[in-house]
Amino acid sequence: MTAPRKILVTSALPYANGAIHLGHLVEYVQTDIWVRFQKMRGHHCHYVCADDTHGTPIMLRAEKEGITPEQLIARVHGEHLRDFTGFHVNFDNYHSTHSEETRVQAEDIYARLQAAGLIETRAIEQFYDPVKAMFLPDRFIKGECPKCGAADQYGDNCEVCGAAYAPTELKNPYSAVSGAKPELRDSEHYFFKLSDPRCQAFLREWTRAGHLQNEAANKMQEWLGTDGENKLSDWDISRDAPYFGFRIPGTDNKFFYVWLDAPVGYMGSFRNLANRVSLNFDEYWQGDAKAELYHFIGKDILYFHALFWPAMLKFSGHRTPSGIFAHGYLTVDGAKMSKSRGTFITAESYLATGLNPEWLRYYYAAKLNGSMEDIDLNLDDFVARVNSDLIGKYINIASRCAGFLTKGFGGKIKLDPDSELITAARASAELIAECYEQRDYGRALREIMAIADRANGVIATAAPWTIAKTDPASPQLQTICSEAMEMFRLLTLYLKPVLPKLAEQVENFLGIPHQGWAEVHVPLTNGHLINSYAHLMQRIDPKQVEALVAANRDSLAPAAAEPVKKEKKVEAKNDAPAAAGEFISIDDFMKIDLRIAKIANAEHVEGADKLIKLTLDVGALGTKQVFAGIKSAYDPALLVGRLTVMVANLAPRKMKFGMSEGMVLAASDTEGNTSGLYILSPDSGATPGMKVK
Ligand SMILES: [Zn+2]
Repeated sequence: MTAPRKILVTSALPYANGAIHLGHLVEYVQTDIWVRFQKMRGHHCHYVCADDTHGTPIMLRAEKEGITPEQLIARVHGEHLRDFTGFHVNFDNYHSTHSEETRVQAEDIYARLQAAGLIETRAIEQFYDPVKAMFLPDRFIKGECPKCGAADQYGDNCEVCGAAYAPTELKNPYSAVSGAKPELRDSEHYFFKLSDPRCQAFLREWTRAGHLQNEAANKMQEWLGTDGENKLSDWDISRDAPYFGFRIPGTDNKFFYVWLDAPVGYMGSFRNLANRVSLNFDEYWQGDAKAELYHFIGKDILYFHALFWPAMLKFSGHRTPSGIFAHGYLTVDGAKMSKSRGTFITAESYLATGLNPEWLRYYYAAKLNGSMEDIDLNLDDFVARVNSDLIGKYINIASRCAGFLTKGFGGKIKLDPDSELITAARASAELIAECYEQRDYGRALREIMAIADRANGVIATAAPWTIAKTDPASPQLQTICSEAMEMFRLLTLYLKPVLPKLAEQVENFLGIPHQGWAEVHVPLTNGHLINSYAHLMQRIDPKQVEALVAANRDSLAPAAAEPVKKEKKVEAKNDAPAAAGEFISIDDFMKIDLRIAKIANAEHVEGADKLIKLTLDVGALGTKQVFAGIKSAYDPALLVGRLTVMVANLAPRKMKFGMSEGMVLAASDTEGNTSGLYILSPDSGATPGMKVK
């Protein structure tokens, strides 16, 4: 036996801004299978991950929900971990990038890069939202496409014609946060100098040294250019306040860009684990570390992991990854996952529908081959494959034979030591192991199912059910059923990285200890007693899959997100009562963020005969400007200082007189007789910012 390997494995960090879906699970299931396999082989393998928690989208989402970013990421952390656990993804540590460990590590790496002369500052021109008082990331700027003129396109590319451009090229740009027209402003930014000849030379060599899949290595050569060319530009690693992240040491208002501290989160999570279970951090991360380090990632983030990350590690004196394993995207029924078709399926809904997570693990494994190709979840094929392979070929071996052994022989095993079937099945162990090692799970499962086919063939020829009818105590019956049980044990061991929960049930049924890879050579012994067979796994009912798709179909998808374009005369007016029978759910109601607001200022609007401009103090949500159509009923001077109720999460809209960022609730008769208008007031004791529900 060679010494156990020390292996550190990561999956990409999911962003703490949304639910885990079946697309994410391709990666976590793939990684988990590999880690479980390594552990079965007896290696010291550690699987760490974390939520990726920083950046503008998290900051804005928390603000929208009226909670702090810390509250948001704590909630999402719980949801993510629940979903991963539900699919038996067994991290040794699931941490957060918003952690002390990650902060210390990020600052250390930054300081060392600075000392190496690889950090540079320079001013760049960037769009700024004057209403929200913040610089805008490209994805938060919208406007008309400079190529095809399509409206409402993002600042980086057009979803209509596919053109890529800089946000400054957009026509009539506006801020997707406030709707305001953005201004170009200068700001000092911090850059990691990837264009430095040292970085270029290092990356040229590293990307060719076998750490990447061939297709990924080729992609890197395109990005790096040929020898002598310098195609890499410096990487902007800073963002201006307000930003949810780590402040750059020595600055007042600059933060590390989320993509700087995200991969550092791998180290942070491992540091957290190492402190808990007494592992030596340096053995895995210092410059001359002998331990292996592998990152499983989606091909969309190859650039960050195969260029920026190794360079960051190298020039901060750390080790670089042993390998980066990129995979493709998930399609469902041959197309991109779609909310309107119901194929954008969340992990939570899959489990809630009662579908077995190991069915999906098996199906993904059958499709994965260690390449960057996309994989397709064909829902009909999913049902057919799981039912035919797992139930028809594998479970069938135990369910057909176990009963004869318990009824006729008290569950006692008696094996033929010369069984060719068993000898051949055992001889496949190293080939199957090699397939797992190479992440060619599809081939591993084909080999395993071929063994199951041979077992079923032998059992069918021996026909124990026929023997049992005439002689239920026949020694031949005991031998063939014992052979079936040993085959079932071997098949279960081979499938264990993919089906960990089922393997545990089988170990209980067979009355054997937890099986590692070495147990391939430890057969059931003569005289060993198995337990009575209890149902192990069901077939998939296609109706369950239909229910899953129906549960994820978003019938409100089109147009629902579009803010109303026309200006309503009276913001507070209720035009018509809901027709009989038109109820909304409590969830629909909870979407409306009603808040107590204090009218800090109220003034007439020049040129508007119905509007009053209100400045509302909404406590922690700050101040909001609202144009309310209540001029006929109220004198602005008498409104100042009053408390009222506002809708705080209405999409801001641009009116002729300025931005309106919500609406104030008022009662009126259904005819909209505006002389009878009554704005709402809370009972005394309510304070600005309180939620109304
Ligand atoms: Zn376009």
